[in-house]
Amino acid sequence: MPALDTDYLIIGAGATGLSFADTLLAESDAHITIVDKHAQPGGHWNDAYPFVALHQPSAFYGVNSLELGTRRKDTVGHNTGLYELASGSEVTGYFHKVMHQSLLPSGRVRYLPMSNYSGMQAGTASVQSILSGQETQVTVRKKIVDATYFTPNVPTTTAPKFQVAEGVRIVTPTQLTQMWQSQERPHNFCILGAGKTAMDAAIWLLNCGAAPESIQWVMPRDSWLVNRLTTQPGEEFFEHSIGGVAKQMQALAEATSVDDLFDRLEASGQMLRIDRAHRPSMFHYATISEGEVELLRQIKQVIRKGRVQAIDRDTLQLADSKETMPPNTLYINCTASAVEPRATEMIFQPTRIVPQLVRAPLISFSAAVCAYVEAHYEHDVVKNRLCTVVPFPRNIAGWITSTMANMANQVRWGQDKTLRQWMTNSRLDGFSKMTASIEEDDHEKIAILGELRTHGMAAMENVKKLMATSASV
Ligand SMILES: Cc1cc2nc3c(=O)[nH]c(=O)nc-3n(C[C@H](O)[C@H](O)[C@H](O)COP(=O)(O)OP(=O)(O)OC[C@H]3O[C@@H](n4cnc5c(N)ncnc54)[C@H](O)[C@@H]3O)c2cc1C
Repeated sequence: MPALDTDYLIIGAGATGLSFADTLLAESDAHITIVDKHAQPGGHWNDAYPFVALHQPSAFYGVNSLELGTRRKDTVGHNTGLYELASGSEVTGYFHKVMHQSLLPSGRVRYLPMSNYSGMQAGTASVQSILSGQETQVTVRKKIVDATYFTPNVPTTTAPKFQVAEGVRIVTPTQLTQMWQSQERPHNFCILGAGKTAMDAAIWLLNCGAAPESIQWVMPRDSWLVNRLTTQPGEEFFEHSIGGVAKQMQALAEATSVDDLFDRLEASGQMLRIDRAHRPSMFHYATISEGEVELLRQIKQVIRKGRVQAIDRDTLQLADSKETMPPNTLYINCTASAVEPRATEMIFQPTRIVPQLVRAPLISFSAAVCAYVEAHYEHDVVKNRLCTVVPFPRNIAGWITSTMANMANQVRWGQDKTLRQWMTNSRLDGFSKMTASIEEDDHEKIAILGELRTHGMAAMENVKKLMATSASV
């Protein structure tokens, strides 16, 4: 049986694994082996639908050492005026470049694609080639890095969890783009699911000419959505980004309930929702532009009667009702849950590192911080304190917990001059540069920072009361 050795064995060549590897490579002299079941780097982006794009600006996604995109602003479409968003193929092309032009040429990285990690015993990991079945033993001198924590379910690789009768036409978002040459045109589209994939599918349909009246949308729960305007990295957006955080702190300081909090976040432009007549109960950091929300509002046939249980030829069985559907309906299955609930765990463990969020929702940044801390700090207690896990929200009250955990990490990092300096220089930290470079006479920005501090203190006081009211949410 072949045998290899390495300092760190990273399981997963997605955004998490590659971002971790890139920073560890830059900050240490470690040898790294990356194993992945996929044929090429990029993780789930390899399975994504053709019209997928980042939710967030490309400017702070990916790995620290290589820019993604050119920091241009879109001049057409629903993201006009905002920093560019890489498409799925740009993201996979980027990760290919990271692997083949940066990691592998370093001479300190080994990549095992089409290979399955199946476990570790006494410091030796087993990796099996998917194509040949050959097993390789990898001696791991330092740690295993489990970069699979955030692996999302995506429609292409996730079968529907409901019954579909014979003859029903149901497609994945990928098939939706590929079926048109040979198939009869449907009279009606029905989007199943309420997450970002469903929103992307709806936008694709509308942009490609489907009439809004021909689209039905099964939306078990409405979501609060992050206004993409508040995530922009350029100085010119300071008022919206840093000022936005100040407004979030103000809302947290002044709200009397979780619903009141979200009303305030919406009123101050932080959060969006598609239908103002319906109160969302979900928040997963889906990020969207105001233009996209306007477009989605054109779809009026929204079915809010629970999750899909079964689809028969002319009926749709939902948790709370049975709907008669128009003949020749094409169902678009967007029900795969990209963010399955998974318990948080310590990031630094005796033999494993499990990168998770240390600033929600930034997966790339968080993985890079974990690698930096691994390279420069000695004890796991210290590392885990610097990388306290920020839980991913499961409901709207979860936004409060995540936001406060983000703030607490920020305060901890602020006390460590070297770490703070590294973050300020990191391309994955969208905001720190903005606050670090304020001129003494820039009174407007200094005033915004003052508001952030004042509201931040008051927010910490009010959060306990808010969380007590959230038990019922
Ligand atoms: C449509 C979509 C858009 C998104 N947009 C953004 C965004 O704009 N910004 C953002 O921060 N996040 C975004 N996300 C969240 C996204 O999950 C992360 O950005 C990121 O791509 C997740 O990467 P990952 O490396 O954690 O997981 P993955 O991409 O799933 O990579 C994990 C890898 O591990 C491999 N693997 C798993 N088990 C094994 C095993 N036993 N052996 C070998 N290999 C294994 C898998 O093959 C996979 O390639 C988006 C998610 C989706 C679905």
